[in-house]
Amino acid sequence: MLEKIDLHCHSFHSDGSLSPQELIERAVINGVTQLSITDHDSIEAVIELWPLKDKLGLELIAGVEISSSWEGRDVHVVGLNIDHKNPELTNFLKKQQTTRHERSQLLIKKLETRLHIENVRDKLNLITKGQVVCRSHFAQLIVDSGAATSFGKAFSKFLAKGKICAVPSHWPDLEEVVSVIIQAGGIAVLAHPSRYKLSNSRLYQLITSFSASGGKAIEVSYPSIKGQDQRRLIRIANEFDLYGSQGSDFHHPFQTWSDLGQVPIMPADIIPVWTSY
Ligand code: AMP
Ligand code: MN
Ligand code: MN
Ligand code: MN
Repeated sequence: MLEKIDLHCHSFHSDGSLSPQELIERAVINGVTQLSITDHDSIEAVIELWPLKDKLGLELIAGVEISSSWEGRDVHVVGLNIDHKNPELTNFLKKQQTTRHERSQLLIKKLETRLHIENVRDKLNLITKGQVVCRSHFAQLIVDSGAATSFGKAFSKFLAKGKICAVPSHWPDLEEVVSVIIQAGGIAVLAHPSRYKLSNSRLYQLITSFSASGGKAIEVSYPSIKGQDQRRLIRIANEFDLYGSQGSDFHHPFQTWSDLGQVPIMPADIIPVWTSY
């Protein structure tokens, strides 16, 4: 039987809208055979599902998506097959959540003063389920207020760097994030490399640093990737002996362009990461 593998998606413990259990149900309906729930800086979904893992109807891979900083940019690193009970990882994620909390205090002020949205804290409490507050939650409040018509517009008009509701991020260095994943027994995967809007030479530098830090795989199949970008990524991955990974980055059922389990086919000229664990 053909395997359907999705190694990147989000539950309501970060900025997705489904519970871990609902994600599993949707994945099973969609024919997914191997799933990793990779919430931003949270392993709550893994903790919740792990005791049930033999009864889920698919293979669950313990995962997380950690925010890092590389040369002033936010870069996301997925950790696959991590030991979710690893104390260093747990402490590290607690610090990430504190960093997120501090940033959200600044964002609350920005939305109130710059966009005149009232009671932002209360509205935020209504739409967040877990410990992790993401900029996408603020994007939703901006859309709800009528100041933007989509999440994308909320980012490009208000939340992106240089816009009136932007706040600086203070993520740990890429190298540190890769180390935390490795010491928790996981495989570090560079998430959606073509989304960082880097020139070809900077992208090459990013992957060079990532590989030198111990990163083992890069995502090469995800919904928005262009064929040309995918071919470039596969070339670089093969040069550094990196595996290829794939994932839908599914967040919400209403985002029909990337349903759970829906990813472009992994080309044959790269070794899939799931052959390594
Ligand atoms: P954060 O990690 O809190 O900075 O939030 C990043 C999240 O915001 C990403 O994982 C996406 O879910 C979402 N996001 C970032 N940029 C955009 C965009 N241009 N349009 C829609 N969602 C975005
Ligand atoms: Mn997200
Ligand atoms: Mn990401
Ligand atoms: Mn993601």
